[in-house]
Parts: sequence; structure tokens; C-alpha cells
Amino acid sequence: MADDDAIFRLFEGLPRQGPGSDACTREALRRLPPLPPAPRVVDLGCGAGRQTLVLAEALRSKVLAVDLHQPFLDQLSASAQALGLAHLIETRCADFGALGAQPDLAPSSVDLLWSEGAIYLLGFEAGLSLWRPLLAPGGLVVVSECCWLTDAPEGELAAFWREAYPDMGTVERNVARAESAGFEPLDWWPLPAAAWWDDFYTPLIGRLAALAADPALAAPIAETRREIELFRRYGDSYGYVFYLLRAPG
Ligand code: SAH
Repeated sequence: MADDDAIFRLFEGLPRQGPGSDACTREALRRLPPLPPAPRVVDLGCGAGRQTLVLAEALRSKVLAVDLHQPFLDQLSASAQALGLAHLIETRCADFGALGAQPDLAPSSVDLLWSEGAIYLLGFEAGLSLWRPLLAPGGLVVVSECCWLTDAPEGELAAFWREAYPDMGTVERNVARAESAGFEPLDWWPLPAAAWWDDFYTPLIGRLAALAADPALAAPIAETRREIELFRRYGDSYGYVFYLLRAPG
């Protein structure tokens, strides 16, 4: 999602800003190797922070949740308060492409770096390379990323994604990119189609209908509807994939 007012408005107030689910976040946590005591955990591009809440609750550890859009962070703070997790979650409005500006995010300081549906904004390999120095020795990364699940996507689908995300890789390509960025890929697995519909596209469809009268939003609404329609038709050809990666020890 670009830093663009109109696009941000489409996604405000939704449970999530990208595909995923609480169950998927818990599954990723289940697959993690052991973390050190009191791990330093960051969630980059947290949005309204559904996964942040799951992380804080499951790990009983502090989580630093970073996003560029303050209204999403306010939504996360309100949810954390309501769930009694406020003491475990710190929100920060910052650019995840320039974390060197954050004095408490020193090199080798992070034990678990989490990012669901956001690394595409930097590019999968560029994002991993940029974030790599933050990781403590043996530190873990969990990222979800939209990937091709076929080598031969149907023409109109390929054309849409060539425009929307030209760098979208296959799963194999992204595993190789993670290695190039200096990580050991430990595990990877696809999210089910329900992770697109239940907490993301279905509420988003309702939001698009509610905003349809606003002419300033006509173009992003049309583009988002097209994206949803293509997923309905070709959702077997691409999907979100979780990657669990480890920095060298
Ligand atoms: N992890 C959330 C949100 C994913 S959408 C979820 O899965 O629901 C991507 C998020 O990245 C948005 O919340 C957007 O505001 C944020 N974002 C975009 N560019 C950013 C940047 N440069 N730095 C920090 N956050 C950014």
C-alpha cells in the first residue's frame, strides 16, 4: 500500500490491511525455534496490528509495532487497551525503510522481526537486505509475501500483476532471494484462501461500497475491485506465503 491518502482511507477501520488471520499468525509462531528470554520483537508495517496483538499475547513479550500511518497505530493502541495488552505494545510512526533513524533499533538488536504483507513495499530481497543488520546473531524473521504459485499465469492476471507488483517472485525465487540477503530459510508455507477473504477482502468489499460515492476514491476503488475479482478467478495461481528465516549465528 503506497503512502497515499486516498488509498489509506480505503483501508482504515478494517480488521486487517492485507491477507492473513490470527490462526495463520499463531501457526507461524508455532513453527519458530526457541527465542531467547525477553526477546526484542519488532513488527514492521503493522497496520492496525492484528498480528501484533497475537504476538504480544502469545509471547507475553514487548512488541515494537512500526507503521507510517498514525490512524492504523491509533486503532492498534485502542485494541491493545481493550484486550489488556497495552503494556506489551509500543507503537511508533516511522518509515521501515529508514530504521537507522531509530536510536533504539541498533544493529544486531532484534531477536524476532515480524512483517505481514508489507515487505513488498521495499521489494522482497531489498527489504530483507535492508533489515538484515538489525538482527541479533541467530535472530529470526517471519515475513509474508504475495508470490506466484505457477510459472505460467493466465494473460490478464500476469498483466495486472506486472503493473501492480512487477517484482513478485515464485516461492523458489524468494527462497533464493532470502539466501542472497544473508538468511537461512528455515520454513515456508502458503496461507489458505480464507486468509484473503475472512478478515481482509470481505470487510474491504463492504468498505468500498460505503465509500463508492466519493469521486476522489473512484480510481483506487476500481483498482481494488479489479484486484479482488482477479483473486476470485485466479486465486490458485498466486497467494501469500509465510517465510521463516534465520540470521547467521
Ligand atoms: N501487517 C498489516 C498491514 C499490512 S499493509 C496486516 O497484515 O494487516 C502494509 C502496511 O505497511 C500499511 O499499514 C502501511 O501503512 C505500512 N507502510 C507502508 N509503507 C511503510 C513504510 N515505509 N514504513 C512503515 N510502514 C509502512
